[in-house]
Amino acid sequence: MRPKQRIGIMGGTFNPIHYGHLVAAEWSREALGLHKVFFTPSAQPPHKDATEIVAAEHRLQMVRLALKDHAQFEALDIEIRRSGPSYTVDTLEELSRRLTHSELYFIMGMDSFLDLPEWRNPARIAEISRLVVVTRPGYSFQLDAAYDAILPRPQEQLIQLEIPGLHISSSNIRHRIASAQTVRYLLPADVEAYIYHHQLYRK
Ligand code: ATP
Ligand code: MG
Repeated sequence: MRPKQRIGIMGGTFNPIHYGHLVAAEWSREALGLHKVFFTPSAQPPHKDATEIVAAEHRLQMVRLALKDHAQFEALDIEIRRSGPSYTVDTLEELSRRLTHSELYFIMGMDSFLDLPEWRNPARIAEISRLVVVTRPGYSFQLDAAYDAILPRPQEQLIQLEIPGLHISSSNIRHRIASAQTVRYLLPADVEAYIYHHQLYRK
C-alpha cells in the first residue's frame, strides 16, 4: 500500500505574512516529513477597520509572494471563498474530504494553542488533524483540564516542536509601518515592497 501523503496546514490572518510564519512551516515540514504545506489565510471579518485587517485579496497575494520560491508551500483561498467567518474546523473538514489518502497536520504557534479551547469545535480539529504546536517567544506550554475533552490522547494527537525564536508579529509590523519605522528583514522583501506599493497599514 502506498504511504499516506503528509500534509501541513498553516492557518492565520497573515496580516501580513512574516518570517515567524515561514520558519514555523519550514521546520514543521522538515521535522515531520511533510509533502506539502498549505497556507490558508482567513476571510476578512466584516466591519473591521481596513487599517487593521486589510482586504483578503491583499493578504492572499502577500502569502503567494512569500511562498513563490518554495515548491512544497502553497497558498489556498479556501477560507476566503467560503462565506461567513473562517473556522479552522470547517477548513480541515473540507481539506480532509478533498485530500483522500492523506494525514493532516495543523501547524499552530503556542499562543494559538493556548487559545484553542475557545475555538469552534477544537476536539473535532484534533480528531481530523494532528496538532503541531511550535514554540513562540513569550508563550509557554500548558495542558490543563481545559484540554481533557479536546485532546483525549495527547501523545498521539499533539506534537510539540521547538523552532528558532523569532519575536516577530504581524501586529508589531503593522504598528511599525504606521509609525514609519523599518520592517526590513522581518518579512520577505517582496512582501515589504507590496505593502509599500499598495500603501497598506499606513495611518
Ligand atoms: P497578529 O499579531 O496580527 O495576531 P501574528 O503574527 O500572531 O499576527 P497570525 O496570522 O495571527 O500572526 O498567526 C498565524 C499562526 O502563526 C498562528 O498559529 C501563530 O501562533 C503563528 N505564529 C505567528 N507568528 C509566529 C512566530 N513569530 N513564531 C511562531 N509562531 C508564530
Ligand atoms: Mg496572532
